[in-house]
Amino acid sequence: MAAQIIDGKALAQQLRIDIAKDVSEFNERTGIRPGLAAVLVGGDPASAIYVRNKKIACEKAGLYPEEYKLPEATTQGELLTLIHKLNADPKIHGILVQLPLPKHIDSKPILEAVSQHKDADGFHPYNVGRLVEGEPVFTPCTPKGVIHMIESTGQSITGKRAVVIGRSNIVGKPVALLLMHRHATVTVCHSRTQDLPAVCREADIVVAAIGRTQFVTSEMIKEGAIVIDVGINRREDGSLAGDVDFEPVKEKAGWITPVPGGVGPMTIAMLLQNTVESAKRFAKQ
Ligand code: NAD
Repeated sequence: MAAQIIDGKALAQQLRIDIAKDVSEFNERTGIRPGLAAVLVGGDPASAIYVRNKKIACEKAGLYPEEYKLPEATTQGELLTLIHKLNADPKIHGILVQLPLPKHIDSKPILEAVSQHKDADGFHPYNVGRLVEGEPVFTPCTPKGVIHMIESTGQSITGKRAVVIGRSNIVGKPVALLLMHRHATVTVCHSRTQDLPAVCREADIVVAAIGRTQFVTSEMIKEGAIVIDVGINRREDGSLAGDVDFEPVKEKAGWITPVPGGVGPMTIAMLLQNTVESAKRFAKQ
């Protein structure tokens, strides 16, 4: 039987409705609007679209958005000055620096300059440490969305075998930690993994975060598995594709996320949620 589709658009839409209600109640109680500042450096068109979509989503959910579009020639020092200003701004509860930054800027000190209390993306070393300890404050948005999607199937994660393909700091590693904290037995695969298909075939849950079109084939999937496709790849004709060979895998999996309309919309919803939670911490609500 074909897999059930985990509809990221619908899940994200419901989350945004819930967040808007929460924001409205919080605002009535405290007079505070959760504020998110998005910082974009340079003219990367894909990044500009992401930042614009984040701003629209903020406005629709009743958050207060600030957008900073800095020129490509912005120096490390100028960017740091802006971040320090946002750290001190009481209207702002979440700061997001859109990656990738231009090559002349060293992103590590920039991400570390963002206050750990406003780190909406959860990339600051303090928040990474809290995540490792199993006591996250800000959970990175895409991994948080992945877990929400798995939980939306109604299947328990406890005791399941999970395989995460990809070990990046922003997706693979945090997803693996979140699954481990939910009592899955987790294997992380990467470019040096030997016989990756055999490892994958053991998995009840597969999370693909590689960045290669059609990398995960149906031969790698156990019958009935939950398959979450984080990949966003551009085909030659300009259309979007995930890391999973969707059609054949759909015939074998139990649940599967599409691309587009899967993990992507969840990421923005989780960013809003992180900002609202941060505003509540500031207000001690
Ligand atoms: P990355 O390039 O930092 O990491 C890719 C990982 O894949 C690496 O750990 C690498 O070891 C692994 N890998 C590469 N080739 C492999 C191979 N042949 N076999 C096994 N593993 C291999 O990428 P990332 O930032 O983690 O992103 C991964 C994908 O997810 C990209 O397509 C990206 O666009 C997408 N992404 C989507 C969202 C979203 O909101 N949906 C957010 C972040 C990233």
